[in-house]
Amino acid sequence: MEEIKNQIESLREELHDHNYRYYILDDPIISDYEFDQRLKKLQNLEEQYPNFADPNSPSQRVGGGVTKSFETVPHKYPMYSLSNTYSKEELIQWEERLRKTLGEEARIDYTCELKFDGASISLSYEKGALIKAITRGDGVQGDNITTNVKTIKTIPLKLKGNYPAFFEIRGEILLPWEGFNKMNEERAALGEPLYRNPRNTASGSLKLQDSRVVAQRPLSCFLYSLAGENLSVSTQFEALQKAREWGFKVPDSAQLVDSIDAVFDFITSWEEKRKSLPYEIDGIVIKVNSLFQQEELGFTAKAPRWAMAYKYKAEQASTCLNGIHYQVGRTGAITPVAQLEPVLISGTTVKRASLHNADQIEKLDIRIGDTVYVEKGGEIIPKITGVDTQNRGHSEDRVVFIENCPECFSPLKREKGEAQHYCINELSCPPQQIGKIQHFIGRKAMDIEGLGGETVCLLYKEGLLSNIADLYDLKKEQILPIERMAEKSVANLLEGIEKSKAKPFAKVLFGLGIRYVGETVAKKLAKEFKSIDRLAEASLESLIHTEEIGDRIAQSVVTYFASPQNQLQIEALKNHGLQMESIQIEQDFHEAFVGKKFVVSGVFETFSREELKVEIEYLGGKIASSVSSKTDYLVAGEGMGPSKKEKAEKLGVVILDEKSYLAFKQKPS
Ligand code: AMP
Ligand code: ZN
Repeated sequence: MEEIKNQIESLREELHDHNYRYYILDDPIISDYEFDQRLKKLQNLEEQYPNFADPNSPSQRVGGGVTKSFETVPHKYPMYSLSNTYSKEELIQWEERLRKTLGEEARIDYTCELKFDGASISLSYEKGALIKAITRGDGVQGDNITTNVKTIKTIPLKLKGNYPAFFEIRGEILLPWEGFNKMNEERAALGEPLYRNPRNTASGSLKLQDSRVVAQRPLSCFLYSLAGENLSVSTQFEALQKAREWGFKVPDSAQLVDSIDAVFDFITSWEEKRKSLPYEIDGIVIKVNSLFQQEELGFTAKAPRWAMAYKYKAEQASTCLNGIHYQVGRTGAITPVAQLEPVLISGTTVKRASLHNADQIEKLDIRIGDTVYVEKGGEIIPKITGVDTQNRGHSEDRVVFIENCPECFSPLKREKGEAQHYCINELSCPPQQIGKIQHFIGRKAMDIEGLGGETVCLLYKEGLLSNIADLYDLKKEQILPIERMAEKSVANLLEGIEKSKAKPFAKVLFGLGIRYVGETVAKKLAKEFKSIDRLAEASLESLIHTEEIGDRIAQSVVTYFASPQNQLQIEALKNHGLQMESIQIEQDFHEAFVGKKFVVSGVFETFSREELKVEIEYLGGKIASSVSSKTDYLVAGEGMGPSKKEKAEKLGVVILDEKSYLAFKQKPS
């Protein structure tokens, strides 16, 4: 038994260390594959010997715990907000106020830090183990979200070095752009409204009930302040260094300066640079460096007197609201879009801005003809931040959210707890029908050559297509008479459709457009359930018990297969000969590929990009969508963007062109 215990403990220690190397130092020494193998081994041992359980085991990273409602708990040390300013004059005035307390001659050093734009968190550590994670809440008490926070890989579950026995550390949980954009790509593929900005998405993620879902969100956490007694640090800058030594992620952007002029230099230097950071910041935080001076200065009711946030102004303009257009997405989600008098903001002409949903419209109390403020900040789509109340449109032009679908006139529905209105006429609302077919033929789904989104619209309008199964009934004679359809393109189109019958089951499943079933989930379901029949019969429980499948997805799958129309459609697709089962392929691992991360880009002569990806996975490699420090190989075809190449070169990623890839593959395994 003692032996088992030692084995478990040394595995844990080893995994904590690999995690630290990968996420904090960005310098892994084993492959992902080897890491996963060791983690599996640990999970197996923990399952077999539950008496050696440890709430801070690296196995907690994958999540598992579900929190139905988060417990409210008091903060041991209150979490204050920060006074903020947009002007340098006010910073000078701030220093004058500091001098009133600290003395005219006092030496004041400042730590300048980036103001990370995410959700603040307070972490408690006891004897080097994370014991609690609490949201800011109202500053006095917050929500206990420990289970979810443990899944964030940049937060250490066990510390290193010489840490105090008990302390709290504060930081910001955020969602870097890369992960955020990826989540939105998946949302777009699902036909769901996009997430608005990384900050809201990060804080929303923290409040999810299912920690397994949180584990999949690419969240990160940067730490910036310590709280506790006898911490044996005397300055803020030292605190940052110490936190780094203990294993926390503390960006090295912080700078210690000795005058307010140097603070201005820091602010100026980040004014442009911030735009190329991999995550969002909304300003700079300036803190009096000496903790002794901090103590002398103390707090107001809301914020410390020794710190100040300098915020960068978002680029904004005012223009006239000409009207509102309601878009209907593939899933029926309604998005109100403001139609604006064109206006120039930071170099681009803006004509439209998202109004998100009915609540937003009501909050702004917006009227057609209003002069509105438009901002292009960290958001992907410009947004309306306010209305010029001096200059209001007529009250009879007040915008009332539509009650019927603008396309099919069915009544709209809004589920409890959801912000979005939906058109529920899923089966015969034109944009939903067209959107579903477009999704099905899309690159990530069936990838039908010779058929594009425009043609789908055309065929829909001609009455030749109303659902995906109709594609397989299309006849040459029907299509030819349609305008713009030459003989050759019709032949290509039909050939593309015919070829799609060979596409693997996972692609078909993704193509069906089941709500919340994105590419990854479709692959997972295809692998686990193997056939559409078994998936259709799966109970809610068995779905939920599938790794990576949460309640929401499981429920959606069950609902989908319960619909008689969907059943008919699947029958029709089956009869047309589409792949409705996973083909078991024996994998043939190649040592040079196993566990390595590949990025594929450009076009190739002897194989398509898709074929290449399948081959790499077959040989044991992993495919990533963009180059990062974790990438091992970039397989570069013709026409790859120069920036990708540059990035790969900078990160020391091995670049293989078509010829060298073929040679690489030929090397004996
Ligand atoms: P505000 O929400 O505008 O009152 O700003 C205060 C918040 O800024 C804090 O609660 C933190 O969540 C956040 N923040 C981000 N970066 C820092 C930093 N480097 N130091 C202190 N607070 C920060
Ligand atoms: Zn409709």
